[in-house]
Amino acid sequence: MAVPLQSNNIPTNHRPSLLRVTCLITTTTKSHPNRVKLVVVNPPQSNDPTLQSTWTHRFWVAAGCTTVFASFAKSIIGGFGSHLWLEPALAGFAGYMLADLGSGVYHWAMDNYGDESTPLVGTHIEDSEDHHKWPCTITRRQFANNLHSLARITTLIVLPLDLAFNDHVVHGFISMFAFCVLFCQQFHAWAHGTNSKLPPLVVVLQDTGLLVSRTHHMIHHRKPYNNNYCVVSGAWNKVLDGNKVFEALEMVLYFKLRVRPRSWSDPDSK
Ligand SMILES: [Zn+2]
Ligand SMILES: [Zn+2]
Repeated sequence: MAVPLQSNNIPTNHRPSLLRVTCLITTTTKSHPNRVKLVVVNPPQSNDPTLQSTWTHRFWVAAGCTTVFASFAKSIIGGFGSHLWLEPALAGFAGYMLADLGSGVYHWAMDNYGDESTPLVGTHIEDSEDHHKWPCTITRRQFANNLHSLARITTLIVLPLDLAFNDHVVHGFISMFAFCVLFCQQFHAWAHGTNSKLPPLVVVLQDTGLLVSRTHHMIHHRKPYNNNYCVVSGAWNKVLDGNKVFEALEMVLYFKLRVRPRSWSDPDSK
């Protein structure tokens, strides 16, 4: 059923011009299956300042990459010195797997609890909610804009570890874990890309399951919006969703703290 847009009912400052309406969503609700709800959303455009990188963003990404590279270099140099390569390689693999698990737990927490006023992670929660309103906007974010939050955390944690430890096995773990954490929002952005626009190597890494794939991540953006949270390789999604780990955690938090996760809301309202 076609529903005319009653633009007179929309305040002037919120009234979309025909050119700016890029996404019209019509949905029905369980309680009113015949009623069409027209939602007009205006995702930020590519030139929106909130999607551009600033010099502060670039500084933190450069600092994060430097600390990760220093950790990686310590691992490689230690490997040459000791001729022991298996242990740091296994430690690196453990870092890669743990980063995928961590990305899922953090993403689940940001999607379901708190709001923009939550200390330390309020902006992450707000970004997460915006991402669910306009999933494709992440592909329009500039590189450093997308990565700077996690780059700052990476820098502040990895720099002291670089200074405190010289063990090359420890750095095998730290460098791979920190690399995946720092770049997981880039992996996430690639999961929203299209084959023709992605670098061929990225498509190969996605198709082989080393990076989270597009088809895999799209499930997260469909009803009931409460699975496939991991965004590094997505390897943990099957384990976590198959065993209903997040659903169990949500029940525990509800019965202990009476806090309802957002995933329990009507998915149509997302
Ligand atoms: Zn999400
Ligand atoms: Zn996404």
